[in-house]
Amino acid sequence: MTTSESNSYRTVLEARQTELRQLLRNREGMASENSADALGEVPSVGKHELAIRHRDPGFILSQSVRESLRLVYEGSLGVCTRCEEGICATRVAALPCTELCSRCKVIAERNQSKSANDLDELLLSA
Ligand SMILES: [Zn+2]
Repeated sequence: MTTSESNSYRTVLEARQTELRQLLRNREGMASENSADALGEVPSVGKHELAIRHRDPGFILSQSVRESLRLVYEGSLGVCTRCEEGICATRVAALPCTELCSRCKVIAERNQSKSANDLDELLLSA
């Protein structure tokens, strides 16, 4: 990946991160106001709330953008975290947060949907 490509991804990702932070902050502010009004209690971030947050698409996306920015800063954006081969530029352009090349992504998805026995078969056939 060239320096100018890397810089353009960084710009896009930083803008996305700012946008997501603002969105999450606004939403948390609204949630705090609502729960404080409705229940008359001081809201706190407990284990349950954190568990919900980790399933929240906005939070997950925010984590993914942060991770991609880390890869940009390290100079490893566009490198598959699994096989360490270059990820095709089209895929990175479409999904800057992607960490897997298309081949490893297919394998990862297959592994997720297969049972342990099927996984053994997959490894034997590879
Ligand atoms: Zn790969």
